Amino acid sequence: MLTLSKLIDEDKCYETIRTMRWPDGVCCTDCGAKNITKRGKHATYSARQRYICGECGRHFDDLTDTIFAGRHQPLKTWIACLYLMGLNVSNQQIADELSLHKDDVHQMTSELRQAVADKRPEVQLSGTVEFDEVYVTAGHKGQPEQVKKKGARDADGKLKGLRGRGTLETEKPPIFGMIQRGGEVVIKMLANVQQQTIKPIIQSMVKPGTLIYTDEYDIYARLETWGYAHKSVCHSAGEYARDDDGDGFCEVHVNTMEGFWSLLRSWLRPHRGISQEKLPIYLGFFEFVHNARKRGKALLGSLLSTLLV
Ligand SMILES: [Zn+2]
Repeated sequence: MLTLSKLIDEDKCYETIRTMRWPDGVCCTDCGAKNITKRGKHATYSARQRYICGECGRHFDDLTDTIFAGRHQPLKTWIACLYLMGLNVSNQQIADELSLHKDDVHQMTSELRQAVADKRPEVQLSGTVEFDEVYVTAGHKGQPEQVKKKGARDADGKLKGLRGRGTLETEKPPIFGMIQRGGEVVIKMLANVQQQTIKPIIQSMVKPGTLIYTDEYDIYARLETWGYAHKSVCHSAGEYARDDDGDGFCEVHVNTMEGFWSLLRSWLRPHRGISQEKLPIYLGFFEFVHNARKRGKALLGSLLSTLLV
C-alpha cells in the first residue's frame, strides 16, 4: 500500500533535524563544544549520523536528548505523525495513513502533544484583548467532550449550562480564554471561576494598561484595580456589541473570543472521551497551533523547532 511515510525521505528528515538543532554547526549535547568528529552512521537507521565530542569524549547522534531518540519507529514516521496532528487528524486516521497500530499511534500522539504543550513559548498579550469563559464536559474517566457556551440554547430553546458556573467537581471544568485582537490566544482550564483564580493568570500574561473587553460577569469586576482598562458588553440584556465612541464601529464585544471557541469546539470533536486530566494538554497543543498560524509560521516547522529546543 502506498502510504504517506513511504513518500517521505528519511535523509531529508535527518537533515532538517540537524539544521534546526545546530544552525551554526553540530555542538556536543553534553558540553556544547564545537570540536566534533563524525563517527559513522547508526547501525539500524543509516541516515542517522553519529558523533564524538573532542572535548568531553561524549558519543551522541542526531537524535540524542530529543523526543525522537530511542524510538522503534523511523524518524520520518514521527514527523509524518506530527504533521497529521497539526491537521487535527484522529489517531485512527493517522494509524491508517501511516500503516501503524492504533495503540502505537495513541502512544506517539500523547507524547508529542504533551511535549508541545510543555515546551510552547509563554504568550504575552497587549493592545486590545478579549476575555471569556466556556465550560467543557470532561469527566475524570473520560467522556465525550462538548464545549458549552454559557447561555447556549438547545434545539427546543431551553437554556443549558446557563449560570451553572462549572467547576472541576461537576465534570464541567471552566476554560478561561484571553485573545488579543489580530493576535495570539491563551486558554487555561481553571479549578473554578473566581477572581483570585484568574488574577495571577491575567497579570502574568497581559501587559499592564491593556484595554480588555469582557461580558458583564462579575469575575471581571476588578480589572481596573488590577491595572487594566476595561469595558464590558451586557449579554444578559441582549447586547452583543456596542459603539462607545460613536464612530460607527461596535468595538465593545467579545466576538473574537466567541469565534475562537467555535474553532476549539471543532478541534476537540474528533478526539472522543478526553478526560479532565488530559484536557489541559489538548488545550495547550491547540493554543500552540492557533498561535503559530497567527504568527504566519508554517506549522510543521514550528512544531518541530519547539520540540527540539
Ligand atoms: Zn562534549
